[in-house]
Amino acid sequence: MANPPLQPVRGTRDLIGEDFRGHHHVVGTARRILALYGHEEWATPIFESTAVFARSLGETSDVVSKEMYSFEDRGGDSITLRPEGTAGVCRALVSNGLTQANLPRKVFYAGPMFRYERPQKGRYRQFHQIGAEVLGAAEPLADAEVIAAGWHILQELGISEGVVLEINTLGDAESRDAYRAALLEHFTAHQAALSPDSQVRLAKNPMRILDSKDEGDRAIVATAPTIQPFLTAAAAGFFDAVLRHLDTLGVPTRQNPRIVRGLDYYSHTAFEFVTDRLGAQGTVMAGGRYDGLVAEMGGPATPSVGWAAGVERLSMLLAAAPAAPRPVAVIPVGEAQEAAALGLLQDLRRAGLVAEIAYKGNLKRRMERANRLSARAALILGEDELAAGQVQLRDLDAGSQATIPLAEAVSRLGA
Ligand code: ATP
Ligand code: MG
Repeated sequence: MANPPLQPVRGTRDLIGEDFRGHHHVVGTARRILALYGHEEWATPIFESTAVFARSLGETSDVVSKEMYSFEDRGGDSITLRPEGTAGVCRALVSNGLTQANLPRKVFYAGPMFRYERPQKGRYRQFHQIGAEVLGAAEPLADAEVIAAGWHILQELGISEGVVLEINTLGDAESRDAYRAALLEHFTAHQAALSPDSQVRLAKNPMRILDSKDEGDRAIVATAPTIQPFLTAAAAGFFDAVLRHLDTLGVPTRQNPRIVRGLDYYSHTAFEFVTDRLGAQGTVMAGGRYDGLVAEMGGPATPSVGWAAGVERLSMLLAAAPAAPRPVAVIPVGEAQEAAALGLLQDLRRAGLVAEIAYKGNLKRRMERANRLSARAALILGEDELAAGQVQLRDLDAGSQATIPLAEAVSRLGA
């Protein structure tokens, strides 16, 4: 009996055809725009020691408490498939001895991330992120600039319409201590009604409850105090400066005091670019300031700020994936013209044109193949024309045909 066809693992997907092209377009656009802002691309490993994430993201975060793909490798080390990119970038900054020279350092990354989540539209177990980090900058202008770069990418992709930047501050340590006490009081008063997960959070990290997705929790969160009255003058001043710079840089903002972000390493600025065009999975780009993360990795205090965006969600917002390139089909009429056809084929490719030749078949079959590939033109090499140094150029959209000098074929097709 034949083997049953194998399926991809739940929550993973193959990127093929327009899915791949949309993905590639999002990553390529981010790479190009971030280069304009001085970001250099880094590629860090897809797996890291579990400690890289467990230490930094916070043990009560959803990611660490229930979403990590962790396993023991054959040598007995605890390994985790990266659930996000920032921890690895900070680890790399420290591991490569880059914590002193040339700060601030602006980094871009792109690649797959892994989280054990319930798969649904816009939520996968292997998904992809692009991310931007500004490492070693304590100034509010760094926050505003990296956010402006994100906005620029959304605009360049043509998807900024209907996307809103929601922004908040998590203050400094002093603001947060005061706020945490107020939250503890609020949530303790509603303790019995909290979800089991949030009961645990209440004991360990009450701020984490603000990020809960549980319906019952959301109602209790709605009446919780916001951080604003607990901000120190310095923290409030920092936030004002970020907002002012964003305004100057032309990025529209909407303050949302409920934004806390899911990971423990954030302080001061926290933000999300959200849309209502993707149903429940409406956050397309999110980030904030993380002043303590590099120190968690064993480096010196290195205030930093950045964001990550889900490539699948950005792709879904694209009006259309970029079209596949349309080839030029080179068609020898018989075997005797094949060598000349191959020569012309390579000349076209060397000139930067997409060109194809069918591996077999008569003229009719080869024309059919050209049509199936949506070829824009065919170059037909017949015996008489070749003897005269000529070739037939057929425009497959217009249906028109002309006999042209072989030597002009490449330039006539646009190279
Ligand atoms: P969510 O609230 O949707 O779970 P998150 O806060 O866990 O998001 P981040 O850790 O901030 O997300 O990741 C940044 C971005 O990566 C998200 O805004 C989203 O676009 C994307 N993302 C996160 N998790 C997934 C996933 N499982 N599948 C697809 N995209 C994801
Ligand atoms: Mg999540």
